[in-house]
Amino acid sequence: MGDDQGIEFFDQAYLGVPPWDIGRAQPPLVQLAEAGQMRPPVLDVGCGTGENALYLAGRGLEVTGIDAAPRAIAKARQKTEQRGLKVDFEVVDALRLSSLGRTFRTAIDSGLFRVFSDDERPPFARELHAVLRPGGTSYLMCFSEHQPGDWGPRRVTQAKIRETFSDGWVVGPIRSAGFDTNLGVAAAWLA
Ligand code: SAH
Repeated sequence: MGDDQGIEFFDQAYLGVPPWDIGRAQPPLVQLAEAGQMRPPVLDVGCGTGENALYLAGRGLEVTGIDAAPRAIAKARQKTEQRGLKVDFEVVDALRLSSLGRTFRTAIDSGLFRVFSDDERPPFARELHAVLRPGGTSYLMCFSEHQPGDWGPRRVTQAKIRETFSDGWVVGPIRSAGFDTNLGVAAAWLA
């Protein structure tokens, strides 16, 4: 991880409300859920303050959310209680997912993948593979190279996604989507 994207950076960001923490689920993930594509149990990797996971729990799905930033998980747990929902939120490093000792049918990644350096991507893909059951699906959302300007996170290309998830994965369609942020909607890939 680059210094500006270390877990300390994220944990500090959660002292306030960071741009990606929009207080509701990402619309492309909502659409997938409405289409019945989120088969439980679901793992939200790099869940932040938990809006996507909480949305899925509100639909009655069994969900686990993990994030390496303790402040994010504390906020997520607080919301879970306030909303009377049930989600298992845990502080876990996404590069050590297998330490969870559990497997899932669906994983969602909203804005985590781009955090990893080139060296970290293959191990991340392996760890994610290890916690997905055979035939399971992982949905990934990231800023795409079509998002102009230089604010916000590192852009990720389709080719990079396909390259990272080559071993043991079948990469399905990758489509353009909008990534909602507190600063506007950004061009993203939904893979
Ligand atoms: N999915 C959330 C947060 C996206 S921001 C949302 O859509 O709002 C990326 C998140 O990844 C941050 O919450 C950050 O704390 C987390 N993160 C960064 N590196 C991580 C790592 N190695 N393991 C787990 N989470 C990590």
